[in-house]
Amino acid sequence: MYFIYDKFYLKHENGPFHPESPERLKNIKEAVDSMAPEYTLKYISPFKADEKQIEMVHYTEYIKKVKRLSSEGGLSFLDADTGVNKYTYSCALLAAGGCFTGLDHILKAGALSRRFFLACRPPGHHAFPYRGSGFCIFNNIALGIKYARVKYGIKKVAVVDFDAHHGNATQEIFYEDAGVFYMSMHQYPYYPGTGDLDEVGYGTGEGFNLNLPFASGTKEPDYLVSIIDIILPLLEKFEPELIMVSAGYDSHLDDRISSLGLLEESYYNIMLALSAFTRWSCNSRMGIVLEGGYNHISTSRSVVSTISACMDDYAAGKIKKLGDLETLFGIDGSYRKKLVRNRDIIDKVKKNFNLD
Ligand SMILES: [Zn+2]
Repeated sequence: MYFIYDKFYLKHENGPFHPESPERLKNIKEAVDSMAPEYTLKYISPFKADEKQIEMVHYTEYIKKVKRLSSEGGLSFLDADTGVNKYTYSCALLAAGGCFTGLDHILKAGALSRRFFLACRPPGHHAFPYRGSGFCIFNNIALGIKYARVKYGIKKVAVVDFDAHHGNATQEIFYEDAGVFYMSMHQYPYYPGTGDLDEVGYGTGEGFNLNLPFASGTKEPDYLVSIIDIILPLLEKFEPELIMVSAGYDSHLDDRISSLGLLEESYYNIMLALSAFTRWSCNSRMGIVLEGGYNHISTSRSVVSTISACMDDYAAGKIKKLGDLETLFGIDGSYRKKLVRNRDIIDKVKKNFNLD
């Protein structure tokens, strides 16, 4: 598996006492460096995207604004909590470029691995074509999808987003696009306010946008049941050629930015399921891109869980169908009945997507 990182990512700052800090990434890198020797990662340095490539998603005027604010130095803000310092523009180009780098590695003929983890800053899923918000400058995953389309002719991509916050910008960018199935599990109602279950896409994109708006206090069982009963069956029908993961670890119990209750083991199980699916459906192709995660300990441990789940699953190759995952996680009727908190929401979503 490829691990993409550059210490230049530490240069972007949102100001003092801001949760989206360089320390987050420093901790992730240290935790990944100390993984057990059987997890042999291929470390890759990202290249910088150029302005033209950023225009695949973002308006020229907005790109120029970020560039100008960065060149002025000091600290300015795109919204109440999205800072720009003198390195932000370059960091954001390198974050998007990190996604391109990962895709180049996993999509080329004879690739050593079909998976990458991109440990980058700033994050991307709240970055709209015309404005940045929620700590995000450029939408790394949306840009990656456009890049994969143009350069590799990839037509169908699924995005699975388990950040505590709804990826409002990624949803909006692909809302009318039947080639990108955006799927999000997030706390709701919560920042940024979007992500209700009736947001299912529009026009030709209708039916290709899925939200699982979870109540605060939601824990692993709802995630696993949603993956097994909704996400994977829909993905099986959709037949994506590539899966991108918006990997946000602020849904961890110890992350005080949200009130969700995932644990390191939960990310392991979620990724085990996604990894297994990519093996039997899309030649194992999966790009995992860091979004949120603000408790340094739980975030770095959960990144390690994410990577080890992908590598363990790939090495073992044991899970061959949905039923194997159900058996592995012990999901049966009583599990669904007793442990799932958002049963109502899960049932409604199933109905919306004809999964009854
Ligand atoms: Zn978040």
